[in-house]
Amino acid sequence: MIVMKFGGTSVGSAGAIESVRRIVAGRLRSDPVVVVSAVGGITNLLLDAAQKAKARSRDGIRLLERIAAVHGTILRELSLPGGMVAKEHELLREVLHGVYCLGELTPRTLDYVASFGERISAKIVSAHFSNRGIPSRPYTGWEAGVVTTGEHCNASPLPTTYARIRSRLSRRKKLAVVTGFIGKDEHGEITTLGRGGSDFSAAIIGRGLNAREVQIWTDVTGIMTADPRVVPQAATLPRLSFSEAAELAYFGAKVLHPRTIEPAVEKDIPVRILNTFEPDAGGSLVVRRAAPPKHGIRAIACKKNNILFNLRSTRMLDAHGYLARIFEVFTHHRVPVDLIATSEVSVSATVDAGVAPALKEIIADLGRICTARMIGGRAIVCVVGEGIGGTPNIAGRIFTIIGKGGINVEMISQASSALNISFLVKNADADKAVRLLHRAYLER
Ligand code: ADP
Ligand code: ASP
Ligand code: MG
Repeated sequence: MIVMKFGGTSVGSAGAIESVRRIVAGRLRSDPVVVVSAVGGITNLLLDAAQKAKARSRDGIRLLERIAAVHGTILRELSLPGGMVAKEHELLREVLHGVYCLGELTPRTLDYVASFGERISAKIVSAHFSNRGIPSRPYTGWEAGVVTTGEHCNASPLPTTYARIRSRLSRRKKLAVVTGFIGKDEHGEITTLGRGGSDFSAAIIGRGLNAREVQIWTDVTGIMTADPRVVPQAATLPRLSFSEAAELAYFGAKVLHPRTIEPAVEKDIPVRILNTFEPDAGGSLVVRRAAPPKHGIRAIACKKNNILFNLRSTRMLDAHGYLARIFEVFTHHRVPVDLIATSEVSVSATVDAGVAPALKEIIADLGRICTARMIGGRAIVCVVGEGIGGTPNIAGRIFTIIGKGGINVEMISQASSALNISFLVKNADADKAVRLLHRAYLER
């Protein structure tokens, strides 16, 4: 069997959902399980509505009208009953009203609100399939067996998930259309796997069912040498390794959720990335091993909006335990550190601004250990390729190109696994840095 996941744009309109039906219809012999995202843009609208309701603004409820209108148009154009998702819209209205009255929004409530995007799209897609000759049934993530940690907005699957998925989905009689992104914790509370998490859901279900392949159907033709919105010349990578894809995803290649590769690695399941709007255009295959890229470099990713911490202390000289104390602060605030560089007396570390809400507290805690300075608006540019470690002078060339482009590099990091070279620049310089390196390495 295979898992076929369709992202927000792929289920973003009646026409797109019909394309999805055609693609699935042509692959029924592979015994697919379908995973869907929310209709494109709906998750943002839901989260926005919740924040507005919390701020006691009536706009929260108004956004709900917009959400209902988007779903209403799709239902009408697919000739499905208009009232089909009325219950979900009503539940949303109730919870937003509660948030508005209390002026309070917990991560748990946020996940509950966000879950409706996928719950509604799975119902619509499944109904369209059934209507057009593919008997189908929608499943929420929890009905499909996804049990997670209780970490709202960033939950992880619990080990019991895989056996549950097997028992819930193995004997399916109709085509299963499962919601991506969402599950429930052990107490029955709805959780989400982090933004873009439907890719991760697909891989989790693939692992549970021991799928032959996990397919990620999206709005671009595979994983490309760079984000095509930044580099129009970017080309599709026909084949890359699990490690390369994981690095690219972690450092900003939005085409895959960073954790998608984990369950695939466990069971050695190939992950294929395909374009819903050009189904015959090939795509990318992510597998355990791929031949090293020509010039050592496979692709370039970029993640904007990071915060750079510059930490100095002369007490670090010949002292032990200093780094441990610094990282204890980040651990205490549950903030992952992305890049680090150290010298005798200074440590630089970056964190993603989006996951570090408690900045004031972090800097105050660090200030008790050392002199701590924080600079925002920084981008990580990440050059990825299995060949980087074994190719002489790659770093030299990269920084010559960046330097000639007049871009100041503020921090450099190359781990000993040598799969990537990452460096930090100002947000405003990031796209130019990616384009310069792409032209030098990947356009010949
Ligand atoms: P979906 O809604 O299908 O999950 P996403 O918007 O999450 O789609 O991811 C697809 C987008 O990822 C593309 O439209 C593209 O702009 C972006 N992207 C960033 N880096 C890359 C890359 N290296 N290759 C392909 N797409 C990329
Ligand atoms: N709908 C969710 C999001 O927008 C999950 C996904 O699309 O993968 O983040
Ligand atoms: Mg996505």
